[in-house]
Amino acid sequence: DVTEELFSTEESLKELAQLADTAGLMVVDSTYQKLSNPNPRTYIGSGKVSEIKTAINAHGVETVIFDDELSPGQLRNLEKAFGGNVRVCDRTALILDIFDQRAATREAALQVTLAQMEYQLPRLTKMWTHLERQSGGKVKGMGEKQIEVDKRILRTQIGVLRKELESVRKHRKQYRTRRLSVPVPVVSLVGYTNAGKSTLLNQLTGANVLAEDRLFATLDPTTRRVQMKNGKEFLLTDTVGFIQKLPTTLVAAFRATLEEISESSLLVHVIDISHPLVDQQIEAVEKVLSELDASSIPKLMVWNKVDKAKNPEEIKSKAKSMEDTICISALNGSGLDEFCNAVQEKLKDSMVWVEALVP
Ligand code: GDP
Repeated sequence: DVTEELFSTEESLKELAQLADTAGLMVVDSTYQKLSNPNPRTYIGSGKVSEIKTAINAHGVETVIFDDELSPGQLRNLEKAFGGNVRVCDRTALILDIFDQRAATREAALQVTLAQMEYQLPRLTKMWTHLERQSGGKVKGMGEKQIEVDKRILRTQIGVLRKELESVRKHRKQYRTRRLSVPVPVVSLVGYTNAGKSTLLNQLTGANVLAEDRLFATLDPTTRRVQMKNGKEFLLTDTVGFIQKLPTTLVAAFRATLEEISESSLLVHVIDISHPLVDQQIEAVEKVLSELDASSIPKLMVWNKVDKAKNPEEIKSKAKSMEDTICISALNGSGLDEFCNAVQEKLKDSMVWVEALVP
């Protein structure tokens, strides 16, 4: 995966710690190991396992999080090695947890539950084999049977969820079609998580969309009407933030939501210009956009948080020299007039702009 190489191990771990914080956990320590191949049984080597175990005891650790997806077997072996009450999870499970906490609409909640179940399905395997061992093999096959029963239940639930999701989506689609019959262009905000999309939406519309210094504050697409000084309007949609190593189950679950991006007239890529990994974040977002076939949609680059940057004047003049690039501070409102003018300018070229439809 290209984006994985964009971030160094340390950078990715730092982001993982931020994700853990977002999930409400307190991070006490972090470590990594360079292996040519992950250990098939425990992902890390046995020496590293003991080292982590020592840290667990020293700090009273309750959860150990791995930055890569662990196989069901690795998960189980690690839990066994770390002992009784320690929960082992991976980046995917952590992100799913955060999404679960944050889903605000019925559709988002359904999507997240579906992704969680699909994540669990392969991990059910052998969860029950301890029953066989405990009985000294007398109930041989009992574990296997239990797995099958559990899998069947889970598959049925997944089927029910899919149907429900379909009907919710149909409903929203009708609403969207009605909305599209009014010729107001749709502008979608995209960007790495925490770039300032919600803040920008709030500044422009006075809408009180949750803006937090947390990863994934926004999960549901929120659409607001923005009226410009000349009376023209556009619809501004906030979308789920992107992140490197976004779990594939989640991308699949949120595909319908993300696909709306590809129906917009204009994309506004919000960038946290003060972030040390700004280039990697931009690339990670562009990669998702191309996966969504959204690369051909007109785009405006918005360099946000210029107030926080070390060299604001330098950044501002650099933005001026670049095409389709605007420098703003969504927080204090500077550059917003310029932003609206740029949006209007970009929409002029767009087929769905009101004037183009009304001769
Ligand atoms: P989102 O995940 O892209 O929707 O990001 P948010 O809008 O939730 O913003 C993430 C954090 O960055 C919040 O703490 C905001 O207050 C902060 N933020 C957003 N825009 C700016 C800005 O222009 N300057 C500064 N200093 N902070 C900002």
